[in-house]
Amino acid sequence: MHIYKTVRGLQNRLDQLKKEGKTIGFVPTMGALHQGHMSLVNSANEKADITVVSIFVNPTQFNEKSDLDKYPRTLEKDAALLKSNHCDIIFAPSETQIYPKDGLPKVGLDITHLIQSMEGPNRPGHFEGVVQVVHRLLSIVGPDYLFMGQKDFQQFTIIGHMLKKLKLKTKLIVCEIIREKDGLAMSSRNVRLTPAIRKKCSLLYETLTWCKANLNKYSIKTLEKKALEKLSQKPFKTEYYKIVDGYDLMPISDISNHKYIVACTAVWAGKVRLIDNMILKNVSSNKK
Ligand code: AMP
Repeated sequence: MHIYKTVRGLQNRLDQLKKEGKTIGFVPTMGALHQGHMSLVNSANEKADITVVSIFVNPTQFNEKSDLDKYPRTLEKDAALLKSNHCDIIFAPSETQIYPKDGLPKVGLDITHLIQSMEGPNRPGHFEGVVQVVHRLLSIVGPDYLFMGQKDFQQFTIIGHMLKKLKLKTKLIVCEIIREKDGLAMSSRNVRLTPAIRKKCSLLYETLTWCKANLNKYSIKTLEKKALEKLSQKPFKTEYYKIVDGYDLMPISDISNHKYIVACTAVWAGKVRLIDNMILKNVSSNKK
């Protein structure tokens, strides 16, 4: 495994590998890696010849500076974990490598329709920052496959839209959510939960699971209302709990007209913002 810190160094190596006919799987991350990230690495190892993981805490996708400042940075530990999971290449660039002083061309992509709800209104500018950094990273790495987690449902939907609209050759592969034993979705932010609050965090998974089990019993409006009631327990504060169409992320009023339905939520657990989701219906792939 090798760590590259510059675009030039990485690209020299990747050019060589591509000339040898190797396929490239790419996993963009912000570091503070856990088993959720490793599942993406494992999928990349299975699908592609070479696995590249980027570690870059992207300032343009943080709408709050304090969140950016508090974001855990653990490069040495991350590198050890990646090595033991057979990652081939780490790309850990500085900010100027990603955002050169003379600027980058604007990504000509309209995402307005995909940021109307959920993370969009609650994190102004966030997805513009995500699009900008993923577009830049893809232009540097030029991978055959891009691996992203279902954990960030709106994010992978927007990136899928970008790949399609800009006719990029990279294929998106979405990996399922990896959870702790009690159901809490793994996240780099979980280390900031106090032990007392952490004990209660299974509530999100329980609520999503309840919602899925009752999809045919209640209307969408009632499901959302009951889910919000379940989540309204101290120390939690819910930002949203939405049931939407999984393709266009638009609110839905009944289940019969939609093949792919997902419930998404964002909840403050004390000072830590957690997001989670669950696919409630997916007729297109026969998944439950
Ligand atoms: P992040 O470092 O949080 O930006 O995440 C990098 C990638 O890992 C994103 O595609 C996330 O969706 C994915 N990811 C984060 N947490 C999990 C998880 N618990 N299970 C699966 N994928 C995850």
